[in-house]
This record gives sequence, C-alpha cells and structure tokens, in this order.
Amino acid sequence: MQPACISCGAAGLAPVLHLGTTPLANALLTEAELKQPEGRYPLDLRFCWACSMVQTTERVPPERLFSDYAYFSSFSDTIVAEARKLARRLIAQRKLGAGSLVVEVASNDGYLLQHYRDAGVPVLGVEPAANIASVANGKGIRTRCAFFGRDTAAQLVAEGLRADVLHANNVLAHVPDLNGFVAGIAAVLKPGGVAVIEAPYVRDLIEKCEFDTIYHEHLCYFSVTALDALFARHGLGLAAIERIPVHGGSLRLFASPGAARGASTAKLMEEEKAAGMLSHAYYAGFAARVDGLKRELRELLARLKKEGKRVAAYGASAKGSTLLNYFGIGAKELEYVVDRSTEKQGRYTPGTHLRILPPAQLLADRPDYVLLLTWNFLEEITAQQAEYRARGGKFIVPIPQVRVV
Ligand SMILES: [Zn+2]
Repeated sequence: MQPACISCGAAGLAPVLHLGTTPLANALLTEAELKQPEGRYPLDLRFCWACSMVQTTERVPPERLFSDYAYFSSFSDTIVAEARKLARRLIAQRKLGAGSLVVEVASNDGYLLQHYRDAGVPVLGVEPAANIASVANGKGIRTRCAFFGRDTAAQLVAEGLRADVLHANNVLAHVPDLNGFVAGIAAVLKPGGVAVIEAPYVRDLIEKCEFDTIYHEHLCYFSVTALDALFARHGLGLAAIERIPVHGGSLRLFASPGAARGASTAKLMEEEKAAGMLSHAYYAGFAARVDGLKRELRELLARLKKEGKRVAAYGASAKGSTLLNYFGIGAKELEYVVDRSTEKQGRYTPGTHLRILPPAQLLADRPDYVLLLTWNFLEEITAQQAEYRARGGKFIVPIPQVRVV
C-alpha cells in the first residue's frame, strides 16, 4: 500500500533518499544484547507533493522508541544555556508570574522548566519516558509521564490546567499522530497563550547535507510552508518564526490561537517558494551529495588506517548511528566511541557495536584522530577536549564537508 502523508493525508509521496535498512538509532545495546539479533527497519525519506512535508514512512511503535530513551538534555551545556535564555525572555515578554502556567511537552529531565520554576512560575512537564520523568520529579519539576496528544490535552483542560506558554522542543518531528498533537496544543493553550516550538529545518538539512539527522524517530523534516498548513488546520497561526542554529539549523515557531500569519513567517514562505522547495526538484540532487560524503569519509579513514593512525569517535548519538550504519563505518575503522552521558557509557552502538566509554578516555589513550559524530556541538566539544588537541589529537568533522580540525 502507498503510504499517505502524515500531515495532509495525500497519497503518492515522492522518494528523496533511501537509507536502506538500519537499526533504531537510539537503541544502544548492553553486552548481553550483543549476542541477540538486532531489529532493523527500512529508512526512506519522501516528499509530499500536496503540502510539501518531507517525511519518513516506516512506523516503529513509539513504546519501542521512547521507553528507555537514553538522552538527557542536561548533559549538553549549550542546550541548558539556550533554555535559560529562552525562559527569561518569555517570562519578561509575557509577564509570567505565580498565577501563570508553563507546560513543556517532552520535558526531558526539566532542563528548560527548571528556569521557570526558579523564577516562581508554576510548571508542568509532560514526558513519555518513565525513567526520565522520574528524574525530573526527583529534581522538583512537576512532571507527568505521558505521550502528549488530544487525550492528554483534554485531560489537562479537564483538570483546569491550561497554559500561558507551551514549549515543545525537538518533539514535533517525533510524533506519529501529528494532527492530534497540534490539536492538543491548540486545546491546552489559554486564549492569549503561545506555543513555542523548535524543530529542525529541512532547508538546513538539505543545503548542509545533514542526512544523519534522518532516523526512525524523526518522522518529519519541516519547511515553513508545511508547518503553516499543519497549524492553520487546527486554528493556530504562526505569529513569528526564527531560524536558530541549534541541531544544525532549526526553526523556532511562535503559534497562537487565531493569530494572523506574521511577517517573518510570510517572508520565509516566500524564500522557500523562490528556492523551489514546494516542488520535488529541490530534493533531487540530495542523495548524490550524501553518497559523495560517504566516499570522501571512507577514503580518509582508509588512508589513516594505512598510515597506522588510530581513530576513535565522539558522540554515541542517533545521528552518529545513521552516519556509521549508512556509510558502513564500524569496528574496522574506529576503536571505540566516547560520550559524556553516563547512561550511555558501558553500552554499545546500534548496528556497529562500538564500545561507549567516558570522554576522559581520549586524553588517557590519545588516539590520533576522533571522528566527531555530534558535529552540531563542535565548539563545545573541542573546547572540552582542548588538552587532547593541545597534545596533537585531531577531530574529523564529517558534515557538511569532511574536514580535519
Ligand atoms: Zn502532505
């Protein structure tokens, strides 16, 4: 059966990139699990002619994806600093206080809500991963363990919990019932409320060749045009949009019930039209560019190996999993991966089965090169690893071009 568009329901989605069959990008393995067969699922990126939404079409049950999700936002300094800035800005702009409510969907360990709480603004997190919700509650961030959608929104409204501000960062792309999710946002906002939503921008993905941000958990890759249609369907207007550098290039939307389309939104839509993003032709050369990167990185690693150099990797991330699995880079090329998350240390990467060690390993062991899989944190990580670099260690950055720093 032909898959239908996740947003508008149209059939006949056009192919953009075929990534083959890959394991789930966040399914890190324990030592015991290494001996068991690993689940693999097809991964295809497609374009909707009708509403221009770019999307993957394989549906993995969300329970499989999120129940023990090993990503804790607080482990990135950049994300915590950005969250603080954003909270302060909204507290001032919207004059939030003890009588307000800030809700965050996919609130993780409370990395964002803690800044509102500290300013005396009541908060409520909605987080589907039980282990992460319990960490947040332990830190005093009121958090409910649930998937957000129409039902959860209705329940919050029934309890009298309606939001002045609703945050949803890097979750919109993960939601199988996209329309139910946006309808839930519309329902839970107070009449003058605002939803502040961050999602990766498909324009950055294509233009900077960020193909490794494609994995099963990311169902959608948004253009402003596609988002405008989605939100309008549920009575939400995109009053403003900002382009922000987080995660390789994202959009920050400000959506309010009944709001008119803002000037920044209209401008971005015009730019998308001018760039040809409303037609499949815009996406046509992408697959060839990704394969060019693959060839280049594999050649570099093969040459280093020939020269007797030792290479490790940094960042047991989902994007790293896509890159390694699609490029066919594994234990032959890399000795191990380091990652700052203690949740990930001691486990193994999906598909490639590389051991995950603490970052201190780099300085202790001094491999000649480190392949930076979390290239979106380049500055933060090279700063952390200043001593390793001072002693001659080098980083290989794979995206948007292969380069050594
Ligand atoms: Zn569509």
